[in-house]
Amino acid sequence: MFSKILIANRGEIACRVIRTARKMGVHTVAVYSDADAKSLHVEMADEAVHIGPSPVGESYLRGDRIVAAALSTGTQAIHPGYGFLSENPDFVDQVVAAGLTFIGPSAASIRAMGLKDAAKRLMEKAGVPVVPGYHGEAQEIVLLASKAREIGYPVLIKARAGGGGKGMRRVEHPDDFSEALSSARREAKAAFGDDRVLVEKYVDKPRHIEVQVFGDNFGNAVHLYERDCSAQRRHQKVIEEAPAPGMTPALRKAMTEAAVKAAKAIGYSGAGTIEFIVDASQGLKPDRFWFMEMNTRLQVEHPVTEMVTGTDLVEWQLRVASGEKLPKTQSEIALSGHALEARIYAEDAAKGFLPATGTLHHLKFPEAACEGATMRVETGVRAGDAISPYYDPMIAKLVVHAKDRQAALEALGAALSRTEIAGSTVNTGFLAALAADPDFCAGDVDTGLIGRHQAALTGVALPTGEIVSAAALAASGAAALPPSNDPWSSLSGYAHFHGVARRTRLKFGEADILAKVSVRPDGRFQVALDAPYDSTNSHDFRAAPRLARWPGHITVFEGAVGYTFAVTDPLARSDDAAAASGSLRAPMPGLVKLVRVAKGDAVIKGQPLLILEAMKMEHTIAAPHDAVVAEIAAEGAQVTDGTVLVRFVEEQSAQTAAAGR
Ligand code: ADP
Ligand code: ADP
Ligand code: MG
Repeated sequence: MFSKILIANRGEIACRVIRTARKMGVHTVAVYSDADAKSLHVEMADEAVHIGPSPVGESYLRGDRIVAAALSTGTQAIHPGYGFLSENPDFVDQVVAAGLTFIGPSAASIRAMGLKDAAKRLMEKAGVPVVPGYHGEAQEIVLLASKAREIGYPVLIKARAGGGGKGMRRVEHPDDFSEALSSARREAKAAFGDDRVLVEKYVDKPRHIEVQVFGDNFGNAVHLYERDCSAQRRHQKVIEEAPAPGMTPALRKAMTEAAVKAAKAIGYSGAGTIEFIVDASQGLKPDRFWFMEMNTRLQVEHPVTEMVTGTDLVEWQLRVASGEKLPKTQSEIALSGHALEARIYAEDAAKGFLPATGTLHHLKFPEAACEGATMRVETGVRAGDAISPYYDPMIAKLVVHAKDRQAALEALGAALSRTEIAGSTVNTGFLAALAADPDFCAGDVDTGLIGRHQAALTGVALPTGEIVSAAALAASGAAALPPSNDPWSSLSGYAHFHGVARRTRLKFGEADILAKVSVRPDGRFQVALDAPYDSTNSHDFRAAPRLARWPGHITVFEGAVGYTFAVTDPLARSDDAAAASGSLRAPMPGLVKLVRVAKGDAVIKGQPLLILEAMKMEHTIAAPHDAVVAEIAAEGAQVTDGTVLVRFVEEQSAQTAAAGR
């Protein structure tokens, strides 16, 4: 076994690898960028080496610096985690050339599977069923369009170098093909530096079912059963589970055999995942699954497999890379119970799952799952850490394991409703709604489920009067009062409050809320709210609500949802807000990729105005209402969070302008 390894990654996966290494008595070296100088993975590792500025291209993607860090610390092997350099065969060559061990497959295996088109050609030859479509070299738009027609719509355009759901566009109709192709190519070029694509048949009622495989350097390869990752948004997984709901012995046999065959076809060593797409329109049939791609690394969702098979896949990775045989044979790997993983992201589900940033001023996970279930929280952040625009906005993974799917779903719901995060927009409410969705609970999942139920799953629940009142009370100045386990009762009787109604202004989203807080003769607080909350209704507080205060804000938690209120200073009339209604601001830092309208153009509500590229994805910024453009950001401009992207002509002058035409 190695005595010291370097982890060429950050965030939760770096922490995850460090934990197993420590358990095995292996010393760890972390690497970090400027933004991560104080991050958890740096704190957890035995040593840490700074490798550059925050942008990934100057730090986590700098193979040369990472290898230098490994050499200077006397490291024997490098664990790449997922993402970043984990599937970069040139990096593997660099590592090996430096006399170090790469904890993962050979560069040749990665090359064979790295590009989706070449991988499909290879799998076809190996006798593994592949998704019908075009995966050839030629890339002329006319050819691709005619292939799409041959395949039959709907089709899916995919970046051959793609990953993380990027560079992928579903096309319903031939008229939309060329636009979708350009968009996919732009995104692929920006994210992967390669804009070549393949075109696939869009499978009906698709389910994403993948098989965990593991190989060693002695020609052995086993599978560790399947995971279902059909719960997706933006073609990206949000809840994963093992085993797949409704899996039949016949399909499991066919899929796991195909997966092992695929791994053996490339002499695979280490942890890998064969992703299949399954047509579930007629139930789960053994002849209705096709190879999509192989991920030649540890997968984000590997913990669900660990929980149902009782293995530590990172331990297996270290053992195999250090030259040991696979710890178990196929017949020794058994399935037990059901596991679910929910990915908690900083993102705004209601705004099309737009990634968010922010400081996690308040961060609390449950200590344990409910009775009869076990839980793991995989995270790379602590309270006070920031979700920056530089990296993936995942905050944590909640993983639960119980005797069956029903019990695991309940445990997940319970764990989510006891999770508290404030300081950034998060998807916990969405995840809880998904974990309680009747179709999802029935195991009737396919990749379109989230889209079909989007309104119900992502609708912004308005806070009840009770919740608003709790926020108003906390905002009214109670902050200055002594803390207690039961803040509401300890506040009672504060003489200077008696008879005086304190006016407090809050903002929930765009809505202004005016509250009057006073103390009743019996010493309890009373909050009266203006419309839309019933102004005559008052509230008292018997149970202390769960809440967090952070600069300028109060977040009240109810279930898995955090309701965040901005506390506005009643004296400062916000002319910023007034100005903002006549303009559109960048929701996050990014690059203005494409500008579609010009100054003076009259635009209609919903019309795309420009494309902002942020976090390696394209976001269309559309007109919030009919308006005339007074000013618009320039193509190629780098903007920060809150920068005005578009300014509209003031409504009155817009009407005059319209009337004058
Ligand atoms: P796939 O969708 O191909 O199965 P996964 O869902 O396993 O991939 O996620 C891998 C993705 O995670 C990468 O493509 C990358 O966008 C993202 N990622 C890379 N590094 C990190 C990291 N350290 N922390 C969180 N996410 C990361
Ligand atoms: P990535 O490398 O981004 O993970 P994949 O090829 O694995 O790309 O596809 C990501 C997701 O897109 C899949 O999990 C699945 O939900 C969907 N998808 C991919 N190919 C198809 C297809 N041919 N038909 C329907 N859905 C598909
Ligand atoms: Mg994939």
